[in-house]
Amino acid sequence: MTATQDPTNSTGPKSGAHAIPSYLDPNNIGPYEIYLEQVERVTPYLGKLAYWAETLKRPKRILVVDVPIHLDDGTVAHFEGYRVQHNTSRGPAKGGVRYHQDVTLSEVMALSAWMTVKNAAVNLPYGGGKGGIRIDPRKYSTGELERLTRRYTTEIGLIIGPEKDIPAPDVNTNPQTMAWMMDTYSMNVGRTATGVVTGKPVSLGGSLGRGDATGRGVFVTGAEAMKKLGMPMQGARVAVQGFGNVGEAAARIFHEHGARIVAIQDVTGTIHSDAGIDPKAALEHLRRTGKITDMPGTEEIKRDEFWGVDCDVMIPAALEKQITLANAGQIKAKLIVEGANGPTIPAADDLLAERGVTVVPDVLANAGGVTVSYFEWVQDFSSFFWTEDEINKRLDRIMSEAFGSLWDVKERHGVTLRTAVYIVACTRVLEARALRGLYP
Ligand code: NAD
Repeated sequence: MTATQDPTNSTGPKSGAHAIPSYLDPNNIGPYEIYLEQVERVTPYLGKLAYWAETLKRPKRILVVDVPIHLDDGTVAHFEGYRVQHNTSRGPAKGGVRYHQDVTLSEVMALSAWMTVKNAAVNLPYGGGKGGIRIDPRKYSTGELERLTRRYTTEIGLIIGPEKDIPAPDVNTNPQTMAWMMDTYSMNVGRTATGVVTGKPVSLGGSLGRGDATGRGVFVTGAEAMKKLGMPMQGARVAVQGFGNVGEAAARIFHEHGARIVAIQDVTGTIHSDAGIDPKAALEHLRRTGKITDMPGTEEIKRDEFWGVDCDVMIPAALEKQITLANAGQIKAKLIVEGANGPTIPAADDLLAERGVTVVPDVLANAGGVTVSYFEWVQDFSSFFWTEDEINKRLDRIMSEAFGSLWDVKERHGVTLRTAVYIVACTRVLEARALRGLYP
């Protein structure tokens, strides 16, 4: 190592600019651009560790696979599949698998990078990973989705494993998907390997509390932020975008604690009620009719009107890039709790900060899911399972302690909570990188 390579003698590469890898379109980088911008923003706070900052910008490993399956009509269809391991400095890669027609490499890269930051933010011993298949699963039968999942798992089986990379559910995947992944991996390695995925059904080594964990973490961090901002929970008006695993649980738990859910938007439409919507009744209505709209006691509003709804807390819990410069100015909430990954573009984040809106960032707010996934993985290794009460108590403690210490960093540096989380998380990742050094 030369003197200029010595991390203690340098504060970073000579050129601050990062190279966009050739496999991304420099004119349309996609969601990974949001992440790169977030890294640029945090780099000045990293001190000598900035020497290693390029590490954060480059995923460690990317696997692109073809996933061919027999369709029910006798033809063969091919789908694009991905698994990205962004960083493994602090432990095995960990992150969900998404089935969506708009999945791209850039999106999976961004999601995997946010997992690196998230796992470090709440101090779980994991790196970051993510996977996805470019498919609209609503158009396929259960049998087709099972074949898709099994072939995809076999293809990415080269790089996943209980001590290497542990997938979990994300958008449009669920405990059944994880059961198929676990079974396929186990068949291929010749032993039952429950720890290869988390978010499994409880009867197959899943953890109690995993289903609600992300929504619960959204509630815990949201409630902590409300305390800091002097906002009472009782009667607080909450608007939720996305009514799936995260949004439904978050809405239900806020409602159970006395908040009033005034708007819900999902892919089928947007409903509003000043008097408040009962999330349990909304879920029943959705299950019965297949849509959120036409629920008795609510009015349907236009999709764009969601952002201007009179509310105190807004929870984006659907997809990324939802809060943009086109709608950030209309938001009336004083607090945004990001259930989804990457819902706010950086320019909108700046506008919200200027307007005095507090944002609990995704990498903290939705870390409850991976925290209970971590509990599941630990329980699988020891084959000893905890009660739901124990799990919820441990989850609440991890989330509220992480919130408290990150809020202190925000106050100390006079930055947004997002930058504070990135400062702490990136420091942890790069400290591990510096201690391990470069191999060989
Ligand atoms: P899900 O598939 O269970 O639900 C997604 C919801 O978003 C559905 O209600 C769907 O109707 C809605 N939606 C989709 N497109 C929409 C659109 N254009 N406008 C409005 N609503 C739309 O997914 P999920 O697991 O709840 O994940 C939601 C978000 O939370 C994603 O960003 C995901 O990455 C993130 N997340 C999930 C977990 C988890 O444990 N499931 C953990 C951390 C983060």
